Amino acid sequence: MQKALIVGTGLGAMTTAMRLASRGYSVQMVEKYHQPGGRLNQIKKDGFTFDMGPTFFSMTYEFEEFRKDVGLEKLPFSFRELDILYSVNFRGSDRNFLIYKDLDKLAFEFEGVESDFRRKMDGFLSGAGKFFHDVEGLVLKKNYNSIIGYLLTLLRVPPRYAPRLWRSVWSEMERHFESREVREIFSLVAFFLGATPFDTPAIYTILSYTELVHDGYHNVEGGMYRIVEGLKSELEKKGVEMHFNTEITGFKSDKGRLVSFTDQSGREWEADLFVVNADAAWFRNKVFGRKKFSENKLDRLKWTLAPFTIYLGLGRKLENVPLHNYFLGNNFRDYSGKIFRNAIKLDQPYYYVNVVSKSDPSSAPEGCESVFILCPVPDLRFKPDWNDREEVAGGIIADLSGRIGIDLEKHILSKTIMTPIEWKDSFDLYKGSGLGLGHNLGQIGGFRPKNFDELFNNVYYVGASTVPGTGLPMAVISSKLVTERIVSDHGPIHT
Ligand SMILES: Cc1cc2nc3c(=O)[nH]c(=O)nc-3n(C[C@H](O)[C@H](O)[C@H](O)COP(=O)(O)OP(=O)(O)OC[C@H]3O[C@@H](n4cnc5c(N)ncnc54)[C@H](O)[C@@H]3O)c2cc1C
Repeated sequence: MQKALIVGTGLGAMTTAMRLASRGYSVQMVEKYHQPGGRLNQIKKDGFTFDMGPTFFSMTYEFEEFRKDVGLEKLPFSFRELDILYSVNFRGSDRNFLIYKDLDKLAFEFEGVESDFRRKMDGFLSGAGKFFHDVEGLVLKKNYNSIIGYLLTLLRVPPRYAPRLWRSVWSEMERHFESREVREIFSLVAFFLGATPFDTPAIYTILSYTELVHDGYHNVEGGMYRIVEGLKSELEKKGVEMHFNTEITGFKSDKGRLVSFTDQSGREWEADLFVVNADAAWFRNKVFGRKKFSENKLDRLKWTLAPFTIYLGLGRKLENVPLHNYFLGNNFRDYSGKIFRNAIKLDQPYYYVNVVSKSDPSSAPEGCESVFILCPVPDLRFKPDWNDREEVAGGIIADLSGRIGIDLEKHILSKTIMTPIEWKDSFDLYKGSGLGLGHNLGQIGGFRPKNFDELFNNVYYVGASTVPGTGLPMAVISSKLVTERIVSDHGPIHT
């Protein structure tokens, strides 16, 4: 039986472990954190439960593909489709825009704001939808052996889509809509990729199509961490062993093959093949010491936003705050352009709020609320010092209090803050970048760090910084791609 060792237990790792185990590989996993899930993690504190990172996702059918691939009768967790996708509030306004998946209701919401909204939105979504269906199978879910192979594939994309490559998400919005509100709200999808609409190619307006038409957004009954708990129990049934508090720091190799990884205590982990779920660019530097991935070079790449997250246990209910909410300011372009470079103060923050206890009452004691706040901030290249963490958190909490008309400080029973430093330290995220490598044209497809190693013929990569990219469905696709590669190189043990 071939032995596979997987470094990390993020979603990409867990789904790869299942795929390999179901093909007869004997799988072990090593993880530096104290529990599985990577960024898809959980905090339990003072009687409250919080999803640490992801709160919703699209493309649930990728989980279905996974289920069939590994021969599970049913997934060990249940999705719940969101009816109101999210709400958006602009600073200084009492109005909350409710973003419905139902386009008639959505059109009603924007009456008086954007004339002829429905016709314009239908036009915008139909273009994005056609593009999505033309490229999803052709480009996105593909392994590339070389840049040339990738470029040849791109040549098969109908040329009418070429302008989407050089236009930004923002200019695509400007082409379709007139009002500031509609342009800003529907360009938020760029932030889901950890970037801004001004520097994200218009190809990613496909995310508007996936949220509003295709599969919508979903969360998981009982909280997002049920995904991890469910997969862990399935992995255990398949005999996969997981070792926590185990960080890979070194390796031994012989003639183009990796023989073993070494952890922080000096223990050697041998296997026939290795799958790395740590950041695919940073790991090549940190553990393998590759010059092509030197810190200088990595610093010059585009990395996604760093998260500043606050987890609040509140001793009261927030009656008027929906489940998912965006709180925006009035200087969208200026803020977006400066925030990542630490060139603007955080005193008028833009942030996202998830009241998880609205969908999972068990995450908070009776009469209480579990609240997660995510504010995109500069990564550690631009702001290495977070000694002002309490001040930054206080500013966000005060801003939110003003906007919802409740003095939150008075009701806080539990408070946890994670700056980019804690995110980096917990999961070894490069300079605290929350979603890994960015998705500009020079960093996707054949240009992204490959899912196979340049030197060792038995080392592979899975997860956000290799193909295809970031987000939960992408991690599941990434596991499919790397498994295809492994099976083609090493063969299934049985099918
Ligand atoms: C704040 C936040 C909010 C997000 N919200 C959403 C959302 O709403 N929807 C969505 O779809 N996506 C969201 N994402 C993105 C999503 O979480 C990630 O894209 C996805 O979870 C990445 O999975 P992965 O397979 O790359 O593994 P990761 O989660 O990166 O896990 C990698 C694992 O490897 C471990 N590791 C690293 N180095 C070593 C080492 N040397 N030795 C041993 N172990 C190591 C790490 O500790 C970690 O557990 C969010 C991310 C963040 C940070």
